[in-house]
Amino acid sequence: MSTETDARPGSPIVPTQLGLDDKFRFRCHKGIACFNKCCENIDILLTPYDIVRLKNRFGLTSREFIDRYTVDCQMDGQGMPGLKLRTGEGSTACVNLTPEGCSVYADRPAACRYYALGLVSMRKKDSPADEDSYFVVKEDHCLGHLEPQVQTIREYRREQGVDEYDEVNREWRQIVLKKRSGGPTIGRPSERSFELFFLASYDVDGFREFVASPAFGEVFDLDPALKQELMRDELKLLQFGFRLLKQVLFGEITIPLKPDAAQKRFAHYQERRAQSQAGVAAQLADAQDKIYESLGD
Ligand code: SF4
Ligand code: SF4
Repeated sequence: MSTETDARPGSPIVPTQLGLDDKFRFRCHKGIACFNKCCENIDILLTPYDIVRLKNRFGLTSREFIDRYTVDCQMDGQGMPGLKLRTGEGSTACVNLTPEGCSVYADRPAACRYYALGLVSMRKKDSPADEDSYFVVKEDHCLGHLEPQVQTIREYRREQGVDEYDEVNREWRQIVLKKRSGGPTIGRPSERSFELFFLASYDVDGFREFVASPAFGEVFDLDPALKQELMRDELKLLQFGFRLLKQVLFGEITIPLKPDAAQKRFAHYQERRAQSQAGVAAQLADAQDKIYESLGD
């Protein structure tokens, strides 16, 4: 099972573009001879909501989940950070696969829910919205394509519960897509921007601390009621993180800045320069760097 969506020669992707009301033949069920074959060789890119669901299932912080259950990857040629689901030690099988099946089935990632479909999102030039299309992925080991059941893509999505995942991840997918397709016109983000991308996308508990920090409050003018809501609702916090990323990466300003943020930024840099000359790197100053760099030059 993979999140690969490139229909190259030899690829298992059937190169027929499907819409929500198109039908395809497929059924996966416990009694099938290939049961869980698709989990024995995985390449699964995780989305922000996948991580929230799984870390809560395990009762871990997002950082603990990332350390135990994921491996780093790059999502584009510029080094945009991604996370893939970890495989077992010395194995290609998913770390959540047991002899009885998937041990996290109710909280399995979006890629597992989509399989045996691939999703491709594209934004046409001058179009305000992304267009999703679907492809059937036919791997030799998967016998589900031989089953007689036929359904529409819409029905399959509903049955697999992907709507909820797509809803939460929608803005994040737009950010990734825009960054990938923007190329040199948008330019390579700084390392700090990538750190912020990682924090807001994957480490929701770390991001909460960041938003609560005095350094954040020095720069952004958050309504106290909104801040309280963000502290207790991690899905709202995720959406806020995506807004912040759009502001940092694409200059789409939706989070108001404190009026004196620019002067503070200048003073901060002067202080940092003095600190670095003295060989001191305070953790708080690092957090402040992230915020100030988000303001651009
Ligand atoms: S039918 Fe396909 S998706 Fe279902 S268990 Fe078999 S290999 Fe996996
Ligand atoms: S999370 Fe579950 S469904 Fe997804 S690859 Fe792992 S074992 Fe399979």
